[in-house]
Amino acid sequence: MIGFLLDLLFPPKCACCGRVLERRKVNPCPACAEGLPLLSDDQILRTGPYGLCAVAFRYEGGVRDAIRACKFHGRQSALRALAPYLVQAASEHLSGQFDAVTYVPVSPKRLRERGYDQARLLADAMARHWDTRVETTLRKARHTKAQSSLKDAAARRQNISGAYTVLSAERAAGRRFLLVDDVVTTGSTMAAAAEALRSAGAVSVVCAALAAPDLGGEPEESRRPMGEILKTNRELQLFSCKIK
Ligand SMILES: [Zn+2]
Repeated sequence: MIGFLLDLLFPPKCACCGRVLERRKVNPCPACAEGLPLLSDDQILRTGPYGLCAVAFRYEGGVRDAIRACKFHGRQSALRALAPYLVQAASEHLSGQFDAVTYVPVSPKRLRERGYDQARLLADAMARHWDTRVETTLRKARHTKAQSSLKDAAARRQNISGAYTVLSAERAAGRRFLLVDDVVTTGSTMAAAAEALRSAGAVSVVCAALAAPDLGGEPEESRRPMGEILKTNRELQLFSCKIK
């Protein structure tokens, strides 16, 4: 009953286009789900300065809108609706490689302004899937310029280098982590966070990010055929209803 009243007052909206959902548990709406920029199976894993990273989407279209809505307009539900896609990518490609789930935190200043940490929202969904709790292991020790305001990789690396410290070396030592963030671009942020964990004695760190910009050069035919994407979306919608 309370859920029904809340739905009337705050009708659930599509993660990508923001329209009120006709079927509240089917999010993103069918039209947006059809066009989601899912990466094909052979594009999910990438390596960079952070090590190995599973990525669910290209950072474009409805996915970019959902991430921005969460970061800048307080719509946490937008990221939660897409989290099951990252859970699936990570469970298919990184299972067995970690025993603790953690995330790349925003700075304390940003956390106060925003009220939540978007990477933690994603990490929560991952931890629930593996029947564990997300662990806060890192702290962003200094406020940095937005990485998106810096164009080249060297400037990004310099901006973020050493920005993360572990909260407790004991919590990191000897552990194998899955490190979660919303977007991985040049990988400097993920690398700085992973490096802090490794320096504190973590045995290994693998990463997962909801989206990454297209690296270019990928052959069009390597993308999943539309029929297959639709099938996957239906499965994910069922799956995401189950884990909520
Ligand atoms: Zn939509």
